[in-house]
Amino acid sequence: MLNKINLVLLSVLITFSGLAVAQSNPLSNQLSNLVKVTPLGSHEGEFCRYDRALVFEDPNGTRILYDVGRTVAGADDERLGNIDIVLVSHMHGDHVGDKHLSDPGAGSCAKPEFTVDVASVTNTVQIAHKKQAKIITGSEMPKFFSKKLEQVGGNPSDSQLVRFGGSREVNGIQITTVPAAHSNGVSGRFVGGKLGQLLDAAGVTAYAGPPTGYVITFSNGLVAYLSGDTGITAEQKAVVADHYQAKLAVINIGNTFTTGPKEAAYVINELIKPVSVIASHANEQATESGKLLPDTRTAHFTEASSVPVHLPLSGMTMAFDKTGMCVSNCR
Ligand SMILES: [Zn+2]
Repeated sequence: MLNKINLVLLSVLITFSGLAVAQSNPLSNQLSNLVKVTPLGSHEGEFCRYDRALVFEDPNGTRILYDVGRTVAGADDERLGNIDIVLVSHMHGDHVGDKHLSDPGAGSCAKPEFTVDVASVTNTVQIAHKKQAKIITGSEMPKFFSKKLEQVGGNPSDSQLVRFGGSREVNGIQITTVPAAHSNGVSGRFVGGKLGQLLDAAGVTAYAGPPTGYVITFSNGLVAYLSGDTGITAEQKAVVADHYQAKLAVINIGNTFTTGPKEAAYVINELIKPVSVIASHANEQATESGKLLPDTRTAHFTEASSVPVHLPLSGMTMAFDKTGMCVSNCR
């Protein structure tokens, strides 16, 4: 009897001391509740001309690859690790991946060399297939990716739709698409066959619906806006800021094809007002030895933004808390 009572007392003591350890260590709890963001650009430690791809890792371990592009050296690129979800903002070659590096670091930061042509399957599809990941897109894009997955021997139902205003939950993460003001034609190179040739010959593209951006609500509550290629839109205030209340924004600053530094800074300062920004799609060599080069679009954007701008240096993992604050490896 006495032994039994002692055992109960002992287990109560162990439980309380366990709780005390957990409570006395708020820092470790905080650190394990972060969203990690790792850019997969063309050159290690730099922000280069064609860099688009970012891997977001939820605190629960789910890994999301956003806009694969050309800088991920195919499905065997070791930097990828596990990938659960692939997002594609729109159908242009530098986002879907019409070609890619032979190895990370091929060519220079100002002029990376994309010598591997994968237009018939796309870099997106070959990576999603190899990683058994879901491709989640809006508009009319899911059917295209279903057919391509089928073509490479994958599961067509791994391509899934989430259209404007709706959301899809995967592993406790909410994903939705938001409007982007850009274009979204499917080039004949991606279509292939006779139809692809006819499209190219006529100088037109196939229809895949409007381009998109994404809003992701991670399991720790962090809301991130991924702009895709876009100009200034009213939805950046009404939808991204007012409705979803995004705290971290990834915004394209390259000009000509998307908002330039001045326009992107207006979107950040006046429309979205997030806590942190990651510059993207600069279409220039923005850094050397990891340092921001003066008089670049990225430098102009950084100066014009009233919110801290973090450079997506390839391979450097940043970490954000649920409020959107960068707490590790911030630049
Ligand atoms: Zn584009």
